[in-house]
Amino acid sequence: MTPVSPIHANEVFNQSPPYENVDLFSSDRPLIEAVEAHGAGDEAAALSAFGRQWGAAEMFALARRANENPPKLHAFDPKGFRRDVVEFHPAYHDLMRASVAGRLHASTWTPSGRRAAPPAEVARAARYYMAAQIESGHLCPITMTRAALAALAAEPALLAQVAPKVVGANYDPGFRPWWEKPGMTLGMGMTERQGGTDVRANSTTAVLTGDGYSITGHKWFLSAPMCDAFLMLAQAPGGLTCMFVPRFRPDGAVNALRFQRLKDKLGNRSNASSEVEFADAFAMRVGEEGAGIRTIIQMVQLTRLDCALASAAFMRMALAQAVHHCRYRCVFQKHLYDQPMMRAVLADLSLEVEGAVALVMRLARAFDRAAADPREAAYARLMTPVAKYWICKTAPGFIYEAMECLGGNGYVEESMLPRLYREAPVNAIWEGSGNVMCLDVLRALRRDPQAADLFAALAEIAAAPAGGKAEFGADPDEGGDEAGARLSVGRLAMLASAAALRATAPPVVAEAFARTRVAQAHGALYGAAALDARTTETLLQRALPER
Ligand SMILES: Cc1cc2nc3c(=O)[nH]c(=O)nc-3n(C[C@H](O)[C@H](O)[C@H](O)COP(=O)(O)OP(=O)(O)OC[C@H]3O[C@@H](n4cnc5c(N)ncnc54)[C@H](O)[C@@H]3O)c2cc1C
Repeated sequence: MTPVSPIHANEVFNQSPPYENVDLFSSDRPLIEAVEAHGAGDEAAALSAFGRQWGAAEMFALARRANENPPKLHAFDPKGFRRDVVEFHPAYHDLMRASVAGRLHASTWTPSGRRAAPPAEVARAARYYMAAQIESGHLCPITMTRAALAALAAEPALLAQVAPKVVGANYDPGFRPWWEKPGMTLGMGMTERQGGTDVRANSTTAVLTGDGYSITGHKWFLSAPMCDAFLMLAQAPGGLTCMFVPRFRPDGAVNALRFQRLKDKLGNRSNASSEVEFADAFAMRVGEEGAGIRTIIQMVQLTRLDCALASAAFMRMALAQAVHHCRYRCVFQKHLYDQPMMRAVLADLSLEVEGAVALVMRLARAFDRAAADPREAAYARLMTPVAKYWICKTAPGFIYEAMECLGGNGYVEESMLPRLYREAPVNAIWEGSGNVMCLDVLRALRRDPQAADLFAALAEIAAAPAGGKAEFGADPDEGGDEAGARLSVGRLAMLASAAALRATAPPVVAEAFARTRVAQAHGALYGAAALDARTTETLLQRALPER
């Protein structure tokens, strides 16, 4: 009888090695080119160091641990006294420490709370894009902290006290008054049970007291509840008003923020999102009474930029994992990477990321230059909701397709793809959901003549070698119709991405994008874009150089 050879259970072959210990910057040609084109090329070495730090195996492990161990609310102590603290896993704090040390929460501000000089936005966007590829939940307070200073500008005396606490590189998670801490974080509370979009319906009240305001009411979503203070909307006597609500009162007593429970969320699990009630909580006014929306919208513009950045980052990570795996995995005696149909899928995914990163980095540049150039201010105003709408809504379907490139391996938790997939929808939902972004674009097109001009200019740039502007349907008037707004905003996103690629990417890439996404409508699924062999090879090498 022929002896049966023993099964070598430990022998693993035809699997890809872990995708880790990578330089998230140097391995990402579209990012390198966007950074260079938008004036931050001098930071390349520092960005590469940041990319190696965040691409290390240890960071992937921290991200996994922070999400496997979600935060816990301790509303009461054992004797029934209120505690209202949320406990996070040490891995979450390690991620926070790394992001604060990298100054993702503050590098666009000076110590006095003014905007830092260009290319601060572009350099920070590149760092944020890399960090978000690894873990996004902890970036919620990072995003809110950096954005809050824009709203606090409406209250210069308060800004002067808060800004020096924010801009440093010290992460201090201690539950102490913010003025005693070397560094602080800030959150935001707008959404109530009866409405998040329609914040004018906020029912929380603010009553003037001797030293500030007294807040009574609730918020239905208050993320990162261990932030040191929150910007919130409340109805003051003069109307809806922006309030600074700290965790401690000026006398050092714990402020009356009563956490009811933490949300059990689809994703974003390393981060806590609370339901909170206020019982005469202490608050300070930010801006005029009645100017609440005008004040907090300054913050919201910046958080929307980060939503788009983070979703582009998820797409990038999913793409990199897919390309990496396919380079190692053989099916029918051939690497998946060399199978014509898989190459078509990977190249089309790569082209989608090319457009997303070009658009979002172009947008970061507009934030850099907005103060000095009205055209850039118009670009930032119009393109922020466009980019948030398009990129955030593209990400979930994109990640699903990338997951499938890894076959069954992509569906299991350790592959990281499931976490990216669950995380992605939140960026579209919060800070203004999809339809709300489209309504905002219509508003900008109607009110700002510069925005309408920009629409036409983008159409021209995007169209340049490929044909006439008319075929792109670039007519700002079509945006007057709410029911058709998604169509118009989607088109605008494609025009703007194509135009951004023309400024940063090689012609073969910009051309392929314009042909497959502007001149024609892209199909619902990836891989049917009919890219030629040269374009396919260029896109794949740019997505991830072979090691
Ligand atoms: C994980 C997570 C964390 C969050 N953290 C915070 C936080 O820290 N602070 C905070 O304030 N909020 C937070 N939110 C809340 C979030 O910002 C809101 O859920 C969001 O703004 C939508 O508000 P809503 O849930 O009340 O939905 P609604 O306002 O009821 O909207 C429902 C849907 O209707 C659409 N819609 C609204 N108006 C129109 C219209 N005129 N025409 C067509 N469609 C329309 C919207 O696009 C949306 O798709 C968080 C949400 C999540 C999921």
